[in-house]
Amino acid sequence: MSESKSAVLEQLRELLGDSGVRETPDDFLPDIILKPSSTEEVSEILKICSAAGQAIVPIGGKSGLASGHHQTDSELGLSLERMNAIEEIDTANRTMTVQAGCILQLAHEAAEEHDLLLPLDLGARGSATVGGNVATNAGGNMVIRYGMVRDMVLGLEVVLADGTVVSSMNKMLKNNTGYDLKQWFIGAEGTLGIITRVVFRLRPQPRSQNTALLAVDDFASVRRLLHWLDGHTAGTLSAFEVMWPEFYDHITREGGNHTPPLPRGSAHYVLVETLGSNPAADADSFENVLAEAMEQGMVSDAVLTRSQSERNALWEIRDDVLDFFVLGPFIPFDISVTVDRMEGFIGDIRRGAEAANFDICVIFGHLGDCNLHVLLGNRDAASFDPEAVEAFLYDTVERYQGSVSAEHGVGLAKRAQLPRSRSPEELRLMMGLKKMLDPDNILNPNKIFTVDQIAAS
Ligand SMILES: Cc1cc2nc3c(=O)[nH]c(=O)nc-3n(C[C@H](O)[C@H](O)[C@H](O)COP(=O)(O)OP(=O)(O)OC[C@H]3O[C@@H](n4cnc5c(N)ncnc54)[C@H](O)[C@@H]3O)c2cc1C
Repeated sequence: MSESKSAVLEQLRELLGDSGVRETPDDFLPDIILKPSSTEEVSEILKICSAAGQAIVPIGGKSGLASGHHQTDSELGLSLERMNAIEEIDTANRTMTVQAGCILQLAHEAAEEHDLLLPLDLGARGSATVGGNVATNAGGNMVIRYGMVRDMVLGLEVVLADGTVVSSMNKMLKNNTGYDLKQWFIGAEGTLGIITRVVFRLRPQPRSQNTALLAVDDFASVRRLLHWLDGHTAGTLSAFEVMWPEFYDHITREGGNHTPPLPRGSAHYVLVETLGSNPAADADSFENVLAEAMEQGMVSDAVLTRSQSERNALWEIRDDVLDFFVLGPFIPFDISVTVDRMEGFIGDIRRGAEAANFDICVIFGHLGDCNLHVLLGNRDAASFDPEAVEAFLYDTVERYQGSVSAEHGVGLAKRAQLPRSRSPEELRLMMGLKKMLDPDNILNPNKIFTVDQIAAS
């Protein structure tokens, strides 16, 4: 450990006590993690670190997929795991005030106890923290209905690099009093401030949930179906997940983990769901809307769920991405392309992958959100060239004016790709904000931008 780091650590130990500093190394974390128990302690930590130029990496549930929480030996981790209280559920205003270290699933359960919904759901719900969710502007399974995290945060408390606490714990839906400062920190991946508390907008718990898996023969019908369902389900459409055959056929293969609810061999499988308020009427109208979609030729086959276990079985098919690791090494991409360009994009990916011998090419995604996940690689590990795979995929995204990161953020993993999706003017403005809020680069340095890029901007 460097001399300056150990001097800083001595001050921090004095501030936090032994229980506030963890030194047990594991595979992913650095040797030292600070564990403050209050916003005031976070502020004091940052005052000490900014005076010493000591870099800090905020750590949530470590479920991030862009390496934003990774750190080097010279950096200190800062985990909000002890700041995990649900401070208030305000049923009159339908808000939740929660500390950033709270696990997402516990926040869900607390809202549910009051018959309310925190409408953010993702596979890592049991380990991800709400602070990490806000820092990454997480998306997940209900974006088409409720938006991304950005759309459900009403208020935020943040500690700046110099220890200043900015408390914007607004609870009002409308509040146009100057710049919306919280937006700077949502999705900033811990590079502009440490998020310590959040006010979420809650929604009524849905009373009905209707789910179906649909087979669709061509992409034009997928697009028509999206608009058809959106227009005929009275704003209740909460999922529109598309799986292409490489996904569905593998997941439901003979001897695999899932039985196929619909026969294999269709060009697209669409998992659709609505969340409503009237169980009997919603079920009828869901069935009618799907029947009409079939009559109009948008859907060639369908299976509707009748129980929670049937619903779970459909979602397990969509969520079982780990099952693809048996194929061989691949890179899981998370990108966006507008729906009108998606067919051309997918065609180019398929043809290009074939020409380059990337024989793992699996496509699925939250189509209603313009978000595709693409698994691209090689069954034969010796042929796998991650750089070639990345270059090919991101070149194609850039050509289609898409986004190199739909919902996972930039972190270290996509830093080099950022100029493909953002203009020089946008990048300069972002780096200007970073310089203003963190002039010594102590907050999650080298994430999103390198320290050198910022210095040169
Ligand atoms: C199985 C699985 C499924 C997933 N599904 C989805 C999905 O559907 N949609 C989606 O968007 N993501 C998904 N993810 C990615 C991940 O769960 C999200 O990015 C999540 O929001 C990260 O939260 P975390 O607490 O684990 O943060 P971490 O991974 O610990 O950190 C993520 C970033 O946020 C920063 N950070 C953490 N806490 C704070 C804080 N308090 N203040 C400031 N910065 C902070 C970190 O420095 C880092 O840059 C999935 C991940 C897994 C493993």
